[in-house]
Amino acid sequence: MSGRELVELTLAEARRRLAAREISARQLVEAHLEAMARHRALNAFVTETPDRALEMAAESDRRLAAGEARPLEGIPLAVKDLFCTADVRTTAGSRILHDFVPPYESTVTRRLWEAGAVLLGKTNLDEFAMGSANVTSWFGPVVNPWTPPGEEPGRVPGGSSGGSAAAVAARLCLGATGTDTGGSIRQPAAFCGIVGLKPTYGRCSRWGIVAFASSLDQAGPMARTVEDCAILLETMAGYDPRDSTSADVPVEPWSRRLDAGIRGLRVGVPREYRIDGMPEAVERLWAAGADWLRARGAEVVEISLPHTPYALPTYYIVAPAEASSNLARYDGMRFGLRVEGRDLTETYMKTRGEGFGREVRRRILIGTYALSAGYYDAYYLKAQKVRRKIADDFRAAFETVDAVLTPAAPGAAFRIGERMDDPVAMYLNDVFTVPASLAGLPAIAVPAGLDGEGLPLGLQVIGRPWDETTVLRVAHALEEAADFRARPPRLVEDGA
Ligand code: GLN
Repeated sequence: MSGRELVELTLAEARRRLAAREISARQLVEAHLEAMARHRALNAFVTETPDRALEMAAESDRRLAAGEARPLEGIPLAVKDLFCTADVRTTAGSRILHDFVPPYESTVTRRLWEAGAVLLGKTNLDEFAMGSANVTSWFGPVVNPWTPPGEEPGRVPGGSSGGSAAAVAARLCLGATGTDTGGSIRQPAAFCGIVGLKPTYGRCSRWGIVAFASSLDQAGPMARTVEDCAILLETMAGYDPRDSTSADVPVEPWSRRLDAGIRGLRVGVPREYRIDGMPEAVERLWAAGADWLRARGAEVVEISLPHTPYALPTYYIVAPAEASSNLARYDGMRFGLRVEGRDLTETYMKTRGEGFGREVRRRILIGTYALSAGYYDAYYLKAQKVRRKIADDFRAAFETVDAVLTPAAPGAAFRIGERMDDPVAMYLNDVFTVPASLAGLPAIAVPAGLDGEGLPLGLQVIGRPWDETTVLRVAHALEEAADFRARPPRLVEDGA
């Protein structure tokens, strides 16, 4: 197989061929390293780790030859640069951590390497995962591999896991890790035409992931098929005593349960998600999704999640409040950027003023304000109460339905530079993803069609806590029905 064919394999297929010794881990890794080099103009990676990748591939080939293959032996992956990787620079997309080399490995990535996966590099992201377009990174914006015909490349990949989504869509890796606080796996997956799963809060350990909003942050897989996401989750998930919110629930063989079908399942379509100004293509795809599920034997019913309109404002109080607290640690004292001032206070001010970008500073200000004496009750406490109401809406709905079907985002990828001077317009991208985040529920984005310009659109499936099985199964049914074979029509190629 040529390098260009190797990068087209799904993770599941690559695994089968590696096990059958039809291809070697080295060939597979080299093909992806070459693709990464061809597509540097996408700016999907902050750091490439080719030497380490080739070393890991050599070990994988040794194990494959010895019949000692582990579950992800020789599978080349990209890792969002929010996961700490021992001895590999971890930046969180921020100047304040631009040269931070962690001495330890995050639990999720440790599990991946222990399963034999190969690290290709660390992917670009919005600074501290704050954003929906990957335009707030200190390392510059990521370019979506999808461009409408006749247009110059320059659509956003979504965010904050925009580098991971672009890398998967452009065939630079077989899969990637993302993190999702309010939609950062699902929305970029939708914008790039790939699959992204945010598991139930507590499913994947947060240990060693740079914290944004701890009650919402959750790691998850991004890949080109539902099955590939399921395979990755089987390794990424699992109880970790080092994360106090990690849950001790069994990891299931999700990838082997996809074909069970959806006959008899009840799927809810929430009427509050029908928002003003939603593009017709999104409406149509959503209706098509419901039809596809019906045709496969599910019962689709309208449901109500009455507190949905309050989810976005609630999220944009809770997330900045937690961020303002989490980001207090970046003070220039023990690690990260330090800009000397005349005295301690000025050193703090200069370090943080120069180390953080505009969006991060905005969130710290909003969060500190919402938590300050006198405003705490009016904003933070109120937001916590509304958050409970939103979770209660879902709980009530899941008494009558097994899953919820919605669009993944209110539109397709927009151009880099758009919506940048209007934070509220930017925040609106997350309108369909934040409710599941606030309620801690598993949710997946599946590519389901193209809009009039030829850009991908995704559908979202939300499930009961810990019921990734049903979420993945419904997603798999949608994937089969949508038969989404479109690929980025004109990949940005260096020198091509
Ligand atoms: N776009 C949302 C935000 O800016 C969500 C980001 C995320 O999930 N990390 O906060």
